[in-house]
Amino acid sequence: MRVLIGGGSGFVGRELTRLLRNKGHQVTVISRQPGPGKITWGELESHGLPPCEGAVNLAGENLMNPLRWWNESYKKDLFSSRIDTTKTLAQAIAASSSPPHSWVLVSGVACYKPSLTAEYTEDHEWTPFDLFSNLVKEWEASALLPENVAKITKQVVIRSGLVLGRDGGAMKQMLPAFWLGLGGTLGSGTQPFPWVHASDLAGIIAHGLEPPTDPPSTSPQVFNGVAPALNTNYEFTKELGKVLRRPTVLPVPVIALNALMGSERAVVLSQGQKVIPKRTLEAGFQYKYPDLTSALKEIVGN
Ligand code: NDP
Repeated sequence: MRVLIGGGSGFVGRELTRLLRNKGHQVTVISRQPGPGKITWGELESHGLPPCEGAVNLAGENLMNPLRWWNESYKKDLFSSRIDTTKTLAQAIAASSSPPHSWVLVSGVACYKPSLTAEYTEDHEWTPFDLFSNLVKEWEASALLPENVAKITKQVVIRSGLVLGRDGGAMKQMLPAFWLGLGGTLGSGTQPFPWVHASDLAGIIAHGLEPPTDPPSTSPQVFNGVAPALNTNYEFTKELGKVLRRPTVLPVPVIALNALMGSERAVVLSQGQKVIPKRTLEAGFQYKYPDLTSALKEIVGN
């Protein structure tokens, strides 16, 4: 299968590209920069969709970009880098004379309201309540295909938790502090910590790219891209300390997180949701790293 991946040069995209190539598929990345194996967003707009059987969008300005201060311009980029690229790819699919059989968008679990008790499956009906839930709403809406194309192209939305992996994302930023023995719980640590190993997220995306067995439904299939284990930030912190054999006794107060990251953004770490991958499991997806111990050992162990 030929797969087009928007933002495929990033952390999740590199993992997905490896997996798809190992399975014998061909990957073309859509990027802001030209290069081998890539097309640019401008080329996609001017030349239309290249021949492909699957398309994915993973493009987006990094939410934890350490080089950017939390302000209106950063927020605008977080929205436009996701919504404009998703819209561009959806429009190219819709305009194609031979659209792909599958179109996958990776969004986030920020659509579910942070709670210590509520458990969210994909069936949960939600309405936006803050900046990031509004982002998810607009992001997912921008992926929708017109009805005539949706009868041909299966639409999949994967709501990802925090992606844990060796090659990037949050772990890359957290590990130095934990190695130095300066890691600790964020706030009280009781907040849920929805996570997924990068390799499992790539597997869930690859699963979503498989050709539909029945004529596709005209609305997207939604899957929660999280591990089945429900953990808190405290459990994550303690497990990471254990795997690294480092103390984790210095909690980071929410007030410090808010000052450092901006309170609007800090909610992604200081609060959390219990997210259940009900449909992902029902679809038969087999996790390689269903629990924190196996995931963290693979990432930092040995
Ligand atoms: P990355 O931060 O690695 O970025 C992916 C790619 O997006 C980059 O390689 C870059 O490609 C492109 N990009 C970056 N900034 C911009 C911009 N301003 N405009 C257009 N394109 C841009 O993302 P991840 O791989 O970590 O995540 C993939 C997707 O999954 C993202 O949309 C993210 O929001 C979502 N997600 C990620 C989570 C995580 O924990 N990592 C959690 C939940 C959701 P290039 O330079 O080639 O143009």
